[in-house]
Amino acid sequence: MFDLDLDSIDGIRVYGRDDLADAMLTATAIQGTRHDGDRGHYMFAMPPDSEFGNGAGAFTACGEVRGKNGVIIAAPTPHPDAETKGGTYRQIRVGQVGPLPEVLRECLTEAAGQNDPLTDAELEAFLDAPPGGCGRENCRHNVSGPADWFDAQVDGNASRHEKMTAALPWAFSEAMAGCYPAREAFGTLHSTYAARFDAGAEHERVAQLGDEYMRMAKWAAAQADPDRAHRNDELLTDAELEAFWSARPELERLRTFARARCVGPWSTLGAVLARVIATIPPEVVLPPTIGSEASLNLFVALVARSGFGKNTSEAAAEDFVASETFVFVATPSSGEGILKQYACVTKPKNQEPQQINLRNAVMFTGRRG
Ligand SMILES: [Zn+2]
Repeated sequence: MFDLDLDSIDGIRVYGRDDLADAMLTATAIQGTRHDGDRGHYMFAMPPDSEFGNGAGAFTACGEVRGKNGVIIAAPTPHPDAETKGGTYRQIRVGQVGPLPEVLRECLTEAAGQNDPLTDAELEAFLDAPPGGCGRENCRHNVSGPADWFDAQVDGNASRHEKMTAALPWAFSEAMAGCYPAREAFGTLHSTYAARFDAGAEHERVAQLGDEYMRMAKWAAAQADPDRAHRNDELLTDAELEAFWSARPELERLRTFARARCVGPWSTLGAVLARVIATIPPEVVLPPTIGSEASLNLFVALVARSGFGKNTSEAAAEDFVASETFVFVATPSSGEGILKQYACVTKPKNQEPQQINLRNAVMFTGRRG
């Protein structure tokens, strides 16, 4: 059962989801929940061998879903909002319950495995839970984390609804862990969200915003997981990084050198290691721990946008490593090109083909020039 919380089916089209609106209109059994308008319960037969809970997936913007263990109130029960909001239960379309359209089924599949959204009362209790503090003296988390992330995503033209359904569980997870109050997360993200809509050009959507945000919040609070809040805190601390670089004089020297050359110490370390391993003769191998001896190979991937110092780190590494062994550097353009750097075959006239060994170690790089 899809519970449409908008006065008109066309409210779904405001989200750009004509497919969902059209699918809802195929319902052959509809119970209205207001005297006028389209607000109400749209019933579809459960596909055989399927089981769906009360999560609404993409339909969360438009209303709620009642599946397994879900309950709806039916006519002629008096509507609780009869006096205030024109609430009533009335049959709009009566007939055999029709099949579930594919797009609606996708909403349910998307929500499968998620916790059911909180009720209004449960959300209130969630928001009012006393913040206990997350127990970390130098906790860096505050609500501007998810709020600023949301703004940056929307600046990049991402879907506001989609990004808020990511920012809310993030903020509520940190709130549950005690980093900041849930009520603050709720309020800050609400205003961050509302600020992204143009009351003039999008007045239809703006009229729906309050309810839309509440539905997202009820869903997000149910998905919140306090263990998520500090999951990145296994990242090395400054002290641990310092311990690495000061562990050996070579490393300290490398870091100082990289900084003097205005390149990243980590990328330079990678480039230095690649260069060093190319100076080791082929008879130096890894011991036969598994199977047999293995040759020394090292793959280093420097990952950064163009202009962020990948090439300059390699250039600095070349200056840093003073080795007696010449390091042959090549930029292969194909897999076959790799082999040709090590050996080639010649066929002198009237003789058997001969393999000419060129060298035992090559440092391949994508860097040019
Ligand atoms: Zn914290």
